[in-house]
Amino acid sequence: MNKDLYIIENFGVSKRAVDIVNAAEETVRGTFKSLEENAEINQLKVMKAFSDNRVSERHFVPTTGYGYDDDGRDTLDKIFAQAFGAEDALVRQQWVNGSHTLATMLYAVLRPGDTLAAITGKPYDTLEEVIGIAGEDGNGSLKDFGINYEQIDLVSGEPDYTAIEKLLKEKKIHAVMLQRSKGYGWRPTYSSKKIGEIIKFVKDISPETLCIVDNCYGEFVDTEEPTAYGADLIAGSLIKNPGGGIAPTGGYIAGRHDLIELCAYRLTCVGIGRECGATMGFNHKAYQGFFMAPHTTLQALKAAALCSAVFTGLGFEADPKPEAERHDIIQSVKFDDKDKMIAFIQGIQKGAPVDSFVNPEPWDMPGYQDQVIMAAGAFVQGSSIELSADAPIREPYIAYMQGGLTYESAKLGITVAVDNILKIMK
Ligand SMILES: *Cc1c(COP(=O)(O)O)cnc(C)c1O
Repeated sequence: MNKDLYIIENFGVSKRAVDIVNAAEETVRGTFKSLEENAEINQLKVMKAFSDNRVSERHFVPTTGYGYDDDGRDTLDKIFAQAFGAEDALVRQQWVNGSHTLATMLYAVLRPGDTLAAITGKPYDTLEEVIGIAGEDGNGSLKDFGINYEQIDLVSGEPDYTAIEKLLKEKKIHAVMLQRSKGYGWRPTYSSKKIGEIIKFVKDISPETLCIVDNCYGEFVDTEEPTAYGADLIAGSLIKNPGGGIAPTGGYIAGRHDLIELCAYRLTCVGIGRECGATMGFNHKAYQGFFMAPHTTLQALKAAALCSAVFTGLGFEADPKPEAERHDIIQSVKFDDKDKMIAFIQGIQKGAPVDSFVNPEPWDMPGYQDQVIMAAGAFVQGSSIELSADAPIREPYIAYMQGGLTYESAKLGITVAVDNILKIMK
């Protein structure tokens, strides 16, 4: 059985599309190799954390009610902390998504009268309402609680060090917030090392300022997390990289022990903290997901590099470039053409194991100014470590693709996307 013939006969794609993808794949073999080396280091770290904490079947036993003495839950905290080079961590299914986890971290460390400064530009969209720069008054935002906000935008993709220094010298800044991934914006994603350099710059001027990091999409892409470079706290979602495509929900925060205790107080309540929280069977999936996470992240990174190589080869602008060092799992492609972008998203949908028969269409998503088109077909709703792509219908027609539980399935989605676009181009 020939794999190329199989895809042509069973998925209705042209030989030309298959040849283009195979040829592009050859050009990124070297990139795959370095990505594989990173994954191996990360896998070894996870194995060491599992081994040092003597993980065994008893850690998977579900608890109910208060969830007192849930050793599986408490040990999972230790495993995340060790693998992320942090003093402590909190891993909980009670967080509904990444935004909720990040909000908990902010509310935990900020008090009325404090100032929070975002120093890598405007934070992720959903945090605007949390901070109180988008929402109305009276809804319980940080602003409502008397927490001040400052923002220092990036200049040509770089932190504005002059403005950061001026702010830190003029005002007492309780915490600075940094975002590692570009998210769905046009800026570079920062490596953990780079995040570490920015943190050092801040701490040299103002040692008591807390440095907290939105680590979404970055986990296991580098061989160290920002906690290993001095971040006081990092947070992320379990339906992205660190859940390995297995964890069904939840989030994590890792960092300084005293601050993690405050986060636990904010997640449940003061006095109860991390002592309560039934896991009801969640642990098994969270452990297995974290075990899988370095490998699953590798699958997503290989898919992103292939996508970049294929579309760069077809003459489109892709970010990151095929061979570039990667620091998150997001791949963007600029189409400069609405129909081609839609054809791309519709092709990616075919690489999904769930709802592959669906043909996505642009729609008016609540809260967005432009129409949006999305490809998603995941075992876990909204999971973006699973293959997904989305694009706002506006110039210059940029689509963002991320995830892929297996490289092979993502390659299918990319091949159908290429075929769709070839049909328009000829
Ligand atoms: C995904 C993401 C978040 C959180 O989003 P949720 O959909 O709430 O999980 C925050 N920041 C960045 C950079 C992200 O990529």
